[in-house]
Amino acid sequence: MKIEEMIAANRADCSGCEACANICPKNAITMTRDAEGFAYPKIDSELCIKCGRCDATCPALNFTKKTITELPPVFVATYQNDKILRHSSSGGMFTALSEIVFNNGGVVFGASYDKNWHVCHTVAKNLDELENLRGSKYVQSQIGDVYRRVKETLKSTSVLFSGVPCQCAGLKHFLGKDYDNLLTVEILCHGVPSPAIWESYIGELSYAHEVTRVNFRSKREGWGTSRIDINFADKGHFTNTNVNHLYGRLFLRGLSERPSCQICKFKFPNGQSDLSLGDAWGVKDFAPEMYDKRGVSVVFVHTAKGKDFFERANLNAKQVKFADAVKKNSRFIAPTLSDQRREKFFAELAENPDWFSVMRQYYIQGDEEIRKIRNKNNGALFKKMFQEILSPMRKQFSQNALIVSSVRDKSGQEFLATFFEQNLENCGFYFLQPRDNGKFLCTENFSGFKFELKDNDALSGFVKKYNITGIFVEKPLDFGELSPLIIEWLKTCGLPVQLFAQK
Ligand SMILES: Cc1cc2nc3c(=O)[nH]c(=O)nc-3n(C[C@H](O)[C@H](O)[C@H](O)COP(=O)(O)OP(=O)(O)OC[C@H]3O[C@@H](n4cnc5c(N)ncnc54)[C@H](O)[C@@H]3O)c2cc1C
Ligand code: SF4
Ligand code: SF4
Ligand code: SF4
Repeated sequence: MKIEEMIAANRADCSGCEACANICPKNAITMTRDAEGFAYPKIDSELCIKCGRCDATCPALNFTKKTITELPPVFVATYQNDKILRHSSSGGMFTALSEIVFNNGGVVFGASYDKNWHVCHTVAKNLDELENLRGSKYVQSQIGDVYRRVKETLKSTSVLFSGVPCQCAGLKHFLGKDYDNLLTVEILCHGVPSPAIWESYIGELSYAHEVTRVNFRSKREGWGTSRIDINFADKGHFTNTNVNHLYGRLFLRGLSERPSCQICKFKFPNGQSDLSLGDAWGVKDFAPEMYDKRGVSVVFVHTAKGKDFFERANLNAKQVKFADAVKKNSRFIAPTLSDQRREKFFAELAENPDWFSVMRQYYIQGDEEIRKIRNKNNGALFKKMFQEILSPMRKQFSQNALIVSSVRDKSGQEFLATFFEQNLENCGFYFLQPRDNGKFLCTENFSGFKFELKDNDALSGFVKKYNITGIFVEKPLDFGELSPLIIEWLKTCGLPVQLFAQK
């Protein structure tokens, strides 16, 4: 079979690893995006000399299932460098290994952002350059000519190549033989979302503010809360948990991933790397003494070379049972269950040029918790309540409003935020979420302000910066004895404070 026939028969067989494009001696293969925004090889028949190297190199076409002879040793580990640990997604294993490679004069390949926040593989020659590779980017990374560059580099120096498992397999098939001076490190992989969806999302966020930093795995609330942070040039800041913001939720629900991820061929035991790295989810249960709120990695060691590097890294590490390590993190052994509406979602994207609005629809509809709330009585009340306040808000505010609500329940907050986001298209909103001890976090509409009760300057600064023209406060505001204080505090910024109530 040929790669084109394989893809025509079932697109899901192609992971987009780009080994075929890298191996082609005539550069006849271009990775071309389909309607979903994922890249597949396209052969230029004028350039092709029918040498068959692409077919012979494709890891999917030449896939042979491995049998499990023994389980790999598994460790939980934390890199002993506070600053880097805080900036790594998990326990900093990737940097710990890279440091060894740099100390031996080698280089590291991995995923980075380009100047437009698109994700692509590149090289880092030292720890400073490694900063761009550090951190998970939840989007399929473009390989470009990186396999060729790895091969060239291996002639003179050692290389660490990191990527998702299908990329490590792609590199191995491209190289066609083992290299003593190559260490391959794969990350546990939930699946990769469409680059076109990411570009649509980041394009929307950066429409009004220039984006200066994206961090999908901010540790501002510790490692356990998977959270995105986006910084803007005007000092604004967007933050939300990955399960709650639009892009993150579509990803975690399995709506936006590549078809190959649903049937991923490269889960254990079929990975082809020296080491696999992920998050040590559940570590508190099976090795509580290793828990570190700054992050803990799980490490699967597959080869003697992997073992050697692991042992040389500057780590606090402990061997654990395989079964414990995969209990709360099954991505090492099984693909993510995809959302049943995935095909419909992408079909609607293909029809509708306004991708952001389609994503919003699925953001709401796709959430089981939100659906439950909607179906509950109080869900209906929420809806009625906000429909009632919607028209006065539209009339009164041509610009931005601050909504203050004491809905503490997470799904209730999600519902409110989504409802406003969907219905107030011409009117920005800022949703003030309560935290304990009179603190608030303003998460929506691309802002990430933190407020403390009575901090009048912070409130006034925020109101001025975002042209807030009015404040809506839910009544009753269920903060106990703090409630009257909060209303007085809100009034200090000199704007109309209007109450609204659940009927
Ligand atoms: C799309 C994706 C899905 C993931 N799913 C899971 C999961 O389900 N369970 C789990 O335990 N861990 C998952 N991870 C891995 C985890 O988030 C960390 O990346 C990993 O534990 C390494 O963290 P670290 O602290 O050692 O170093 P970090 O510095 O955080 O490591 C970053 C590493 O990830 C690589 N990388 C980042 N983004 C990409 C990308 N888009 N494509 C290819 N390589 C990339 C970099 O090259 C680098 O090697 C996922 C990562 C990504 C990118
Ligand atoms: S058959 Fe050879 S020349 Fe043609 S696309 Fe494949 S690798 Fe390139
Ligand atoms: S080599 Fe990779 S990109 Fe090319 S057809 Fe095979 S799986 Fe797809
Ligand atoms: S889930 Fe499998 S196919 Fe999808 S990106 Fe990860 S390794 Fe590749």
